[in-house]
Amino acid sequence: MACVSYPYEYDAPVSQTLFDRASLVTPGGVNSPVRAFRAVGGTPRFMVSGTGPYLTDADGREYVDLVCSWGPMILGHSHPEVVAAVQAAVARGTSFGTPGEGEVALAEEIVARIEPVEQVRLVSSGTEATMSAIRLARGFTGRAKVIKFAGCYHGHVDALLAAAGSGVATFALPDTPGVTGAQAGDTIVLPYNDLEAVHAAFHAHPGEIACVITEASPGNMGVVPPADGFNAGLKAACAKNGALYISDEVMTGFRTSRAGWYGVDGVKPDLMTFGKVMGGGFPAAAFGGRADVMGHLAPAGPVYQAGTLSGNPVATAAGLAQLRLLDDAAYAKVDAVSKEIQGLVSAALTKEGVAHRLQTASNMFSVFFTNREVRNYEDARNQEAFRFNAFFHAMLANGVYLPPSAFESWFVSTTHDERAIERIAAALPVAARAAAEATA
Ligand SMILES: *Cc1c(COP(=O)(O)O)cnc(C)c1O
Repeated sequence: MACVSYPYEYDAPVSQTLFDRASLVTPGGVNSPVRAFRAVGGTPRFMVSGTGPYLTDADGREYVDLVCSWGPMILGHSHPEVVAAVQAAVARGTSFGTPGEGEVALAEEIVARIEPVEQVRLVSSGTEATMSAIRLARGFTGRAKVIKFAGCYHGHVDALLAAAGSGVATFALPDTPGVTGAQAGDTIVLPYNDLEAVHAAFHAHPGEIACVITEASPGNMGVVPPADGFNAGLKAACAKNGALYISDEVMTGFRTSRAGWYGVDGVKPDLMTFGKVMGGGFPAAAFGGRADVMGHLAPAGPVYQAGTLSGNPVATAAGLAQLRLLDDAAYAKVDAVSKEIQGLVSAALTKEGVAHRLQTASNMFSVFFTNREVRNYEDARNQEAFRFNAFFHAMLANGVYLPPSAFESWFVSTTHDERAIERIAAALPVAARAAAEATA
């Protein structure tokens, strides 16, 4: 039975034991770095089950989940219809290495929802989607250089793990050991929301830039939506210079509206990437766009791309079941829940006199501990992140699971109901006070 008396102890003995075991056999004890709680400190919670808006950890504590697996669980955990679709698919066999109807149906659903996507290729992760889209853009244009924006995350693609060189906007340095100068050398990193920098880069590298890749509305530095006209300006600059405009909708796709961020701003990309929500909690992702560009992919064209588990029947069944349940009413529900929680968070922080900015992109939102508008990565890094860490742990102790970093979007689902919101409302005053009292 889930524990329901708050606050929970700071220590989580069963999770700690699991983490100790994990740390012996897995680097840092986790399979994706942010899960290790290094930004906020403390023991990462090992989850054992999820139902609707709730997660239960190995110590038997229940949390309202505001991470939703970093976005995918937009219908909440263990949605009965998604579970049933998965069980039926598993019973038919888990992988054939041949084409199957499920992947056709999922591709049709994506094409039907998102007008710029005329053709789509299924892959297994968002990283694979962006990596493949970049390769395709380079193959299609016969050019090498790629523009990306500081603070935008596109998975751990070598060429995209590059940071802006100090002061020099037009050459990139590897962001991590293991990425060579050559791999990062064709990547141009620019400040987000800065169209002038984009124009300057095209001017400095005539005929060399294959594509601009951007998060449709960034959520990986916290929520930093595009300024009015920014995406349209990118599209125009690409069109003018013979480059492709790639909109990474791995996070926003099928979340910020039924047609993702494209459904919000209507700027038509040449290529788009998807993941997270479209997999229904399974490894399924995709890239797609203009048919004349997609036609360059093997076996239709010369640009190679492949995957043993691409279009996996279980993953596609989960994704299709989830997308079919995501009708207008579902998005209205997610939007309404998000607004309600946003209001509660802001009111609690205001009441304690904590400088903060709540930034939103449709139903995605995050809190920056600063007075100023956050328009790019530099602004995001100038917040008082230490306040977030105190806030995070107070929320956790009071049964609310937030992303364990000040630089992440928060996510809600159709299942966040009155009981879940009451739990959040009860935790917030304590957390806001902890944020107010926090010291660097
Ligand atoms: C999560 C994410 C990715 C990477 O997807 P993975 O499935 O983790 O490889 C790429 N782009 C964006 C915008 C993302 O949010």
